[in-house]
Amino acid sequence: MQTFSKSFTQQEPLPEAAIEAAVAVMRSGRLHRYNLVEGERGETALLEQEFAASLGVAYCLACASGGYALQIALRAAGLQPGEKVLCNAFTLSPVPGSIHGAGGIPILVDIQDDTTVDIDDLRRAAEESGARFFLLSHMRGHIGDMDAIVAACEELNIVMIEDCAHTMGASWRGRPSGTFGKIGCFSTQTYKHLNSGEGGLLTTDDPEIMRRAVILSGSYMLFDRHLAAPDAESFGDVRLQTPNCSGRMDNLRAAVLRPQLAELAERRERWNRRYRVLEEGLGQEASIALIPRSPEEDFVGSSIQFRLPELSRERIATFIAGCERRGIPLKWYGQHEPQDYTSRYDSWRYLGNTRSVPNTEKVLATLCDLRIPLTFDEEDCMEITRLIGEALQESG
Ligand SMILES: *Cc1c(COP(=O)(O)O)cnc(C)c1O
Repeated sequence: MQTFSKSFTQQEPLPEAAIEAAVAVMRSGRLHRYNLVEGERGETALLEQEFAASLGVAYCLACASGGYALQIALRAAGLQPGEKVLCNAFTLSPVPGSIHGAGGIPILVDIQDDTTVDIDDLRRAAEESGARFFLLSHMRGHIGDMDAIVAACEELNIVMIEDCAHTMGASWRGRPSGTFGKIGCFSTQTYKHLNSGEGGLLTTDDPEIMRRAVILSGSYMLFDRHLAAPDAESFGDVRLQTPNCSGRMDNLRAAVLRPQLAELAERRERWNRRYRVLEEGLGQEASIALIPRSPEEDFVGSSIQFRLPELSRERIATFIAGCERRGIPLKWYGQHEPQDYTSRYDSWRYLGNTRSVPNTEKVLATLCDLRIPLTFDEEDCMEITRLIGEALQESG
């Protein structure tokens, strides 16, 4: 049996410019973001400035992780302990975790067959719960109808926060993902679109939210050392009223991120070329239903998802095992025991009794996911589709 031998979790090495910048920071000894010498702006503040410019927003805060960015986004937006927060039921564990960490109660919202949020259910959930906040994950990079989502949130008087862990570099109708909500949150963890091991970025155009976020992240009284935050003089009372929940980014991570940010558009092209090969190949299989992509969506194809709507659980399990034997670790969201990572709402038992989300249940039962690291080339992607086809045949 032919097998695929490359690793699905191996990312590319960092660019030489990133390595050099990291070495320079280490030689300086000034790793803390606020440890600056006369006239120095620092890698972290420069990263914030460059990321804000890349999205066309006023403010950006770099912090310890994507999950941390979500947590302080909720707090900076005014979430009070015990308040309810809507979130789409198909997401990754740091999303309900960040709501929980910020003192909120996650309220699940159903998804549609294309995995994006079901706006009718969003309305129902908002009305039932009275929630004032909606944490929208663009899960696996699928962007819903943003005009309709934004309109629904406005009508329901809901503050929307975007989780862009899978849409950094993506846009919808030419507008960058992360700029539709009050706040955008991004991750620079190794498996996302930029790699600093761990890291997060929070963006907003709202000066009051940004002031709170800066203090929450642990700026002490050094907020004047930011380049993508409101003027230091405007921090007035906020600096005394906001708790310090340290979760800053350091200059070492920022140094490796800046050269990668400059490559993001090119990475998107490379990802999408690979995605198109997989999409084309998998599209040939009668039992595979690809997730349709709207022409409004300029996505980053760093992973691909498909459903097997006609196949029994048993047959899907056999198919997954066949892929595994061929060196292809497909993620199956229908698996009851969480493995590797969890995106099943029923693995988050601390949520207690949640709303029922029958379509999420139905979609996840047959949904599969494949990572597309840039260490694969287009031929690898062709080989993968061939082996997946073989495993499908063999399974039934
Ligand atoms: C990765 C991820 C996050 C944030 O993850 P961190 O590991 O905390 O950086 C948030 N949401 C989704 C959907 C993710 O995949």
